[in-house]
Amino acid sequence: MKINLKALTEKELKKFIEGQKQTLYRAKQIINWIYKKYATSFEEMTDLSKSFRELLNKTAFISSLKLLSRIIGTKDGTQKFLFELEDGETIESVLIPDKDRLTLCISSQVGCAMGCKFCVTGQLGLKRNLKAYEIIDQIISVSKIIAPSVIPPSPLYPALSQKCGVYQRGVRGDSSLSKITNIVFMGMGEPLHNFPEVLEALLRITDIVGFSKRRVTLSTVGIAPKIFELAEKAPRINLAISINATTDEIRNKIMPINQKYHLKELLNACRKFPLEPRRQITFEYLLLEGINDSKEDALRLINLLKGIKSKVNLIPYNPSPKRPEFRTTSKDKTIAFQKTLQNAGITAIIRKSKGGDIFAACGQLKATYFVRNSSTAFKSS
Ligand code: SF4
Repeated sequence: MKINLKALTEKELKKFIEGQKQTLYRAKQIINWIYKKYATSFEEMTDLSKSFRELLNKTAFISSLKLLSRIIGTKDGTQKFLFELEDGETIESVLIPDKDRLTLCISSQVGCAMGCKFCVTGQLGLKRNLKAYEIIDQIISVSKIIAPSVIPPSPLYPALSQKCGVYQRGVRGDSSLSKITNIVFMGMGEPLHNFPEVLEALLRITDIVGFSKRRVTLSTVGIAPKIFELAEKAPRINLAISINATTDEIRNKIMPINQKYHLKELLNACRKFPLEPRRQITFEYLLLEGINDSKEDALRLINLLKGIKSKVNLIPYNPSPKRPEFRTTSKDKTIAFQKTLQNAGITAIIRKSKGGDIFAACGQLKATYFVRNSSTAFKSS
């Protein structure tokens, strides 16, 4: 059976290449081709001898994600990518431009077991964990798609060039938008619920693909014991906590994970999370009208965050007809909430909701693939 080289850790890949009677230098070349030049075939590896490439073709392969659709939001340039995995399951990744940043939000699971009440992904339940290479492949695939040199219709993306009416060229006129600058684990799934594979992915993203740890953020709903493990095994990765409530009573209702790890335990883990100078933990706070957006909530949040180097991102809720019990907090109330935090010396930012027009905003990822018109248009919602 052929071996998928992307499924191997760096150490395993080196061992495999040694087993082919080749030097370690060859392993480095292959790693470079796969993770830096995004090669998906051995034919592309032109600095390997023809005989070695033929040998590799017989013994190994390089997996890649199949792009099913790419939708580009007309409002803010946010892009949503729908990928098919080898077993036919689908995942979504979202690319968010913001000034000089191009952040890729990646998925760590197919579906999610956490069941947050305001989240569409949470309603799917967990289908399966992603493998480390499937997590990294989102970065590789999107990097390849947005790179200027491969933007024209290409045989590498037959699904797009042959049948995809929504295919658009990259946002033009800004070279900074052709390279991912930041990675966030905020797509489908709870990354700490798939810890071994996410950890391996984190190591490859930073050590092999070459992203600075400062530019990689893992967002969790708060699996407290794993926060300690993350600090130990992947130090200096940015941590974001999706907190969203200031009492256990409310958090239990909207985020079932809180019934297992209460706010106190979660925040204790945050207090012990080692931070380098000038680094903070980001607390994501989704404002829900009448549920968690009162002045008392803001005051309680200030208390909860005492002793934690933190900043707060206030996130406007993207309404969904499927969740009529949740409504968006008004702009005035959002600003008042922000001011209360700021008056207490907390950095609080109202995050612009991006990608809402293409169902790519927070809590909207679902990875459903509808063929609306068999020849031209695809829509994910
Ligand atoms: Fe899962 Fe995150 Fe959705 Fe909660 S918000 S259900 S953790 S994907």
